[in-house]
Amino acid sequence: MSIMVPSTTPALITSGHQALDSALHQLGQAADQLGLDDGLRTMLATPRRSMTVSVPVRREDGRLDVVQGFHVQHNVSRGPAKGGLRFHPGADVHETTALAMWMTWKCALAGIPYGGAEGGVAVDPARLTDRELERLTRRYVNEILPLIGPEKDIPVADVGTDERTMTWVRDAYNLNTGYPVSGEPMAPDGSSGRADATARGVRIAVLAALGRAPAGTTVAVQGFGKVGAPLAQFLAEAGCKVVAVSDATGAVHSGGGLDIARLRAWTAESGGVAGYRHADALARDDLFELDVDVLIPAALEGAITEANAPRVRARLVVEGANGPVTPQADEILHAGGTTVVPDILANAGEVIVSHLEWVQSLQPCSWSPGEVELKLSDLMRGAFSEVTSLAADRGLTLRQAAHVIAVGRVAEAHQVRGLCH
Ligand code: NAD
Repeated sequence: MSIMVPSTTPALITSGHQALDSALHQLGQAADQLGLDDGLRTMLATPRRSMTVSVPVRREDGRLDVVQGFHVQHNVSRGPAKGGLRFHPGADVHETTALAMWMTWKCALAGIPYGGAEGGVAVDPARLTDRELERLTRRYVNEILPLIGPEKDIPVADVGTDERTMTWVRDAYNLNTGYPVSGEPMAPDGSSGRADATARGVRIAVLAALGRAPAGTTVAVQGFGKVGAPLAQFLAEAGCKVVAVSDATGAVHSGGGLDIARLRAWTAESGGVAGYRHADALARDDLFELDVDVLIPAALEGAITEANAPRVRARLVVEGANGPVTPQADEILHAGGTTVVPDILANAGEVIVSHLEWVQSLQPCSWSPGEVELKLSDLMRGAFSEVTSLAADRGLTLRQAAHVIAVGRVAEAHQVRGLCH
């Protein structure tokens, strides 16, 4: 038996410590604003439950590898836990905790009754066959089974996972528990429009933050995955000029605006933006320094740091990814007059639409895509206006204001419900 040491593609490695430091820094600032006592601060800074598991995977050649998996429930004081499942070589317990914490604040800010969770497996899915990936997913679910379930913790796709992964998760859960497949909230097909919901939500945040007609607005998007690719397309359809996008393989640029549908077709075929012939190639990280109106990091944490923040020229940064701007970079961007729309506000679309799905399954009722879009838009715009008003009243950045509102709501739930929550 061998312990699988995940492959380390340097570009894809994130530092879990850095993500958790950022999350704790943001929490600390909000707690200061809210005047929270030490006990409550400590409760909010520590996850309610955290599990590290060893996941054996039988490889096609008969070898047995073991990878590490994590599942963290940060907070459940406002409702059942909700969070992504990430397959990435850099996943660790610190990163998983940070992502779970951000999810708690995201749900509270959007006003939906969920707590925050996250799962992670330290593996590069591109290096496993489909069968290995399925075995790994099912075994991981077996290991974390006591924590998850339709009424207590509902995983959704995140980096390195997709709807196929989530179908394996649901099926493994169902097989292990006997929980019925049909008519349950973790339904395989889901509500109208969940797949692109995060991107649709980020588009709403971008347009709200622009505060003017989008025609001609230049945009650069880092990350061309489940969030970045549909987002680039939606922004182009709204009239923006998406001049550059990047992914792990490289970056492409076209001053006249990229043909996003064509670029998506290319990446589906070739596995990445590199080699796309209808635009200029760009060094991947030069994307951050382009002279564009809007910069959207939609890849991983820690993309904009104190090292590259001074060279960011966009006046608006909208966080499609979780934690892409470090606290040091935040200060530099703020001092330089760049507004950052924070992750917990900008990328809440998926969790909002998941909640709408849950409501439909409980009632039961079925809303049209138009009705779902309208509700998503109302919730996102409502949260946006609460955050911008508080920021203006108290002289806070949008991130600080968003955290004050969200942390305040969770703290209040603890105070109302007592120590057991
Ligand atoms: P994904 O795995 O579908 O896509 C990630 C993309 O980032 C890929 O295109 C990858 O090539 C690219 N990438 C990785 N390293 C890069 C680098 N150094 N430079 C440029 N590009 C790089 O993941 P996703 O679901 O699109 O998630 C992206 C981010 O959005 C993550 O932070 C995730 O937590 C966050 N998020 C996702 C959702 C969702 O619904 N999927 C919801 C909320 C937040």
